[in-house]
Amino acid sequence: MSQKTTEVLDGNAVGDAIKADLADCIDTLTDADVTPGLATVLMSDDGASETYVSMKQKACEEVGINGFHYELDPEAPAEVLFDKIDELNEDPDVHGILVQMPVPDHIDKRDVLNRINPDKDVDGFHPENVGRLVAGNARFKPCTPHGVQKLLEAANVETEGKDAVVVGRSEIVGKPMANLLIQKAPGGNATTTVCHSRTDDLAEKTLDADIIIAAAGVPELVDGSMVPEGATVIDVGVNRVEADNEKGYELVGDVEFESAKEKAGIITPVPGGVGPMTITMLLYNTVKAASLQEDVEVELP
Ligand code: NAD
Repeated sequence: MSQKTTEVLDGNAVGDAIKADLADCIDTLTDADVTPGLATVLMSDDGASETYVSMKQKACEEVGINGFHYELDPEAPAEVLFDKIDELNEDPDVHGILVQMPVPDHIDKRDVLNRINPDKDVDGFHPENVGRLVAGNARFKPCTPHGVQKLLEAANVETEGKDAVVVGRSEIVGKPMANLLIQKAPGGNATTTVCHSRTDDLAEKTLDADIIIAAAGVPELVDGSMVPEGATVIDVGVNRVEADNEKGYELVGDVEFESAKEKAGIITPVPGGVGPMTITMLLYNTVKAASLQEDVEVELP
């Protein structure tokens, strides 16, 4: 029998600890007559998007951030969304703006991201904020990769000098994740390989990694045979797969948890790993946005 123990990281616990520190920052802001405000805009009938937005609003309420929520008709022309963004850009009570993606097909996502005032772009997707991240001078780090970085830090996983493999090259997870890992900064300094759908032999890459971050959106893509002994495995994936239960589906990650856990030193579960960190880091960015816009110094965690 193997004596191996694998640490399963609890994203809820790490997220709660960060939220407690953010509550102190919010107290400091409140003392200066500032209540951080986050506006969410939903232009979709998609059930998953509705759930994500309501989770974000609920999290705001829990920590004392003012939530403003707007639902727009998915059939409405792009101008309706742009007018709403313009209005929120001007609203002094709104420090952060989040337009829930995806937007309807008749609207170009890039036009939406470009329209948001970069100072209020708490998702960190505006080209100015992407550029700042790449240049090593981030204003808002995108929430999911930032959450992963915080999880690694909480688990005392050293990134400096380590080999990291990021599976996925999306604008919201893979690319910013790789950018954070290569920065000459704490939580960075890793030698980073980015794999994607055209990668020839994924297992060959992951088997060389100290840290594997799976963000491909492919259920259980990374199994135990692809994980080196003792590696840290972070599973960003959230995939609905058919299941014989009341809902008719269950959520699985991009990692085959049971087999990967046999090999990994540290692993995140799905759900309860990266997911709660994403929302926590949105709160973090909203507090940071309020602090910068109102010129009130806070000690961010
Ligand atoms: P995406 O579809 O935009 O990008 C997926 C990436 O994976 C692409 O770059 C593609 O090249 C790569 N890929 C696809 N198949 C591959 C394969 N077989 N081998 C290697 N690479 C492959 O997805 P995304 O928005 O980056 O999200 C990725 C996953 O993370 C999804 O499951 C999504 O639901 C989840 N997600 C979770 C959170 C969270 O908070 N937990 C946040 C964002 C995304």
